[in-house]
Amino acid sequence: MSEQVEKIVDLVYKKIAAKLKSLGYIEIEASGRHVHLSRQVVDELFGKAYVLTHIKPLSQPGQFVCAERVTLIGPKGQLSNVVVLGPEREQSQIEVSKTDAKILGVDAPIKESGKIQGTPAIKISANGNTVDLNQGLLIAQRHIHMSLTDAECLALKDGDRVDVAVSSDRPVIFKDVKLRVSDQYDTAMHVDYDEANACNLTGKTFGLIIKT
Ligand SMILES: [Zn+2]
Repeated sequence: MSEQVEKIVDLVYKKIAAKLKSLGYIEIEASGRHVHLSRQVVDELFGKAYVLTHIKPLSQPGQFVCAERVTLIGPKGQLSNVVVLGPEREQSQIEVSKTDAKILGVDAPIKESGKIQGTPAIKISANGNTVDLNQGLLIAQRHIHMSLTDAECLALKDGDRVDVAVSSDRPVIFKDVKLRVSDQYDTAMHVDYDEANACNLTGKTFGLIIKT
């Protein structure tokens, strides 16, 4: 695609997306397995004061994909080439799907991001180094990030629970989706790969928010 055509496509897409958003449709993004690392774990895996390599921004402001990859080691199996997301966090958090958890052989709970208390232990290796995390493995609960403006426009507030109907060729209604509203967010719904595959998520897919 020429640069000019790409710009036009982008502009048309943005207009359609804005119109859909005003009607209560939300873009659905699939999050693959990934890790958020603490400063201490970055030091232990990659070396003291190592700086993670920013390669591309994510939809949420300030969040980014790093060039670094790690291997997750569970009692039954391993997952290699797992992407590291930046910036570093207070606590390391490993987000996988239920399918991934079965491969690792760990009974991971479905949790809201950040709520790692009591989650299972996992080994993580990179760069010839291995770190034993005593907790941090979870399956991220499906959720919506929403800007304050969009929340006001749709008369929704932080902590609300909604259903989201996906009209793909494998339609699904996601129930009990938690809404997280902040002026730090761009509006998007996040599901994991098991959920994305369940509704045959491909390319740009929108779901309709249903208030419950
Ligand atoms: Zn998210």
